Amino acid sequence: MREGFVAITGGASGIGFAIAEACLAKGWGVAIADQNAGALDAAERQLAPQGSVDGTTLDVTDEVAIEAWIDRIAAAGRLVGVVTAAGIAADVPFLDTPADRFRRIHDVNVLGTFLVCRTAARVMRATGGGSLVTIASVAGLRGSKGRAAYGSSKAAVINLTQVMAVDLARYSIRANAVCPGPVDTPLVRTMHDAATRKAWIDHVPQRRYAEPREITGLVTFLLDEEASSFVTGQAIAVDGGFAAAGLTALET
Ligand code: NAD
Repeated sequence: MREGFVAITGGASGIGFAIAEACLAKGWGVAIADQNAGALDAAERQLAPQGSVDGTTLDVTDEVAIEAWIDRIAAAGRLVGVVTAAGIAADVPFLDTPADRFRRIHDVNVLGTFLVCRTAARVMRATGGGSLVTIASVAGLRGSKGRAAYGSSKAAVINLTQVMAVDLARYSIRANAVCPGPVDTPLVRTMHDAATRKAWIDHVPQRRYAEPREITGLVTFLLDEEASSFVTGQAIAVDGGFAAAGLTALET
């Protein structure tokens, strides 16, 4: 059993849920927050036999709710890590992207990440440090079609993570961004039709989507102070080779 809690936003589904399972397997307690109360309830029930889990319904753009959530975790034990997996996406042609859609995606993905990390880092500063892991995307590393709002929000998350690494190093707080490629989750199943799936598979050298659990090894490494004590400010892709690739050979 490890000391302390990891706070995970978007922990009710997909990548966030897999990260919660992986943290429990490593012996941390987990506090998961999500805006989907029904999914959160189900996730909490599924995770409870695996270790200490506490679920909170909130919207990551709600500053007051985030402060109450982080205060509650800090009162229960040491907050050692944060993973910001709550996020929303869209694949809309640039010329058709409505301003309110753009604004909401940036609110959830960028402002939400900022609010959670800032609130948690204030607690970590007083308790000797910790690790912030943001879930960005390869969409923040490369320009992909239809990602005006989503891609630019994830690029902002990557830069925000670099700034946090610089500003918070003096408090022994590290910050790193994980950039997944295509991962088979509920978010992607609603967004990717057959043609989109084929396009991704054609562009990923490993020729497949990841399972959510394949993102978790890097996240728990980055959370672990012993394993990754000198790693900070990095944006690391977990993408089957997508961001590294130039022209790829298509097998028949
Ligand atoms: P998902 O939809 O399965 O899970 C996201 C969770 O975030 C959901 O439970 C949702 O309710 C929650 N959420 C959304 N908006 C919220 C808000 N305002 N406040 C609180 N909770 C909120 O999606 P996923 O695929 O697991 O995505 C998780 C993260 O990984 C996202 O940030 C996404 O952008 C990123 N990502 C996903 C992929 C992929 O291919 N699935 C690739 C790269 C990056």
